[in-house]
Amino acid sequence: VRLPDPTARSGEDVEDLSLRPRSLDDFAGQDHVRDQLRIAIDAARGRGEPLDHVLLAGPPGLGKTSLARILAEELEAPFVLTAGPSLERKADVAALLTALEPGSVFFVDELHRLPRALEETLYPAMEDRQLPVTIGQGPGARVVTLDLPAFTLVGATTRAGLLSRPLRDRFGLQHRLEPYLLDDLVAIVHRSARLLDLRVDEEGAALIALRARGTPRVANRLLRRVRDFVEVRAAGRVTAAAATEALDLLGVDSLGLDRLDREILRSICAMFAGGPVGLATLSAAVGEEADTIEDVYEPYLLQRGLLQRTPRGRVATPSAFEHLGLTPPTG
Ligand code: ATP
Repeated sequence: VRLPDPTARSGEDVEDLSLRPRSLDDFAGQDHVRDQLRIAIDAARGRGEPLDHVLLAGPPGLGKTSLARILAEELEAPFVLTAGPSLERKADVAALLTALEPGSVFFVDELHRLPRALEETLYPAMEDRQLPVTIGQGPGARVVTLDLPAFTLVGATTRAGLLSRPLRDRFGLQHRLEPYLLDDLVAIVHRSARLLDLRVDEEGAALIALRARGTPRVANRLLRRVRDFVEVRAAGRVTAAAATEALDLLGVDSLGLDRLDREILRSICAMFAGGPVGLATLSAAVGEEADTIEDVYEPYLLQRGLLQRTPRGRVATPSAFEHLGLTPPTG
């Protein structure tokens, strides 16, 4: 059985749009990133220049797309969105770049999945606003260089390590989003509840935040599921008791782990005596793709100190054994 990826986009993200923060002030948490972007935006606006290219790295659902949209809002610039995997040919990139209005924020999601050959098209575009294109074919073919309008490339990636060095170096601003602190997630739950017209107690919000694995998208998703539950069972009010019951029912435990998280830990603890286990072996054992385990599940398990990465593979920590109610092997 394939379990749902807890941070995956879904139809709910359509509704999620209404919960998206619209300005930097509205964007909770990540204070360090926000402060630096604020300065960069104000400086660029002051000089009447486009913002330097921005690279946003970090696990899914932490707000990379939201931040990119906010940059465009704050710069009062048009926003154009695309994603690495949907750009296949040089002509795809050329068509988008030449159609940009001056000053646009050009957002490329999943930048690490952009074909290598296309990266090279981006270098002169990012550096000199120039785009060499080949016209014609065979011996008569010639290269002409098109001038591009000023633009800011905002790249988002869950795997900054997969970007080539020359591409990474062309981003003047590079930020890594980290899982959110509990207080910031509580604030996000309250804000979303307000937008959804839902009554949430302080303890109810804290409980949802605690189980949201440091991720606003997950917090919003859990809040929606809890809303369904309280509308049917708890007179429409999110108390700690109602939130606990709803989340237990969903299989989201006290640490915010879902079934696949627990399956990963259980395999390492029980099948492999605590590890080390290689990613490929683990992927086969739990029936989930290695990339998904690495990008989506591991960051939170690492952050919670349930898992460690060693050169020889993944190792479950004593906290993992304890959480699962298992006894660590001795010796
Ligand atoms: P992906 O990597 O999957 O593209 P992402 O990092 O771009 O994800 P977003 O789509 O920007 O994440 O955020 C997911 C949802 O989480 C948003 O719709 C928004 O409602 C909420 N969200 C993200 N960050 C914040 C924040 N700092 N404050 C309030 N809500 C947030």
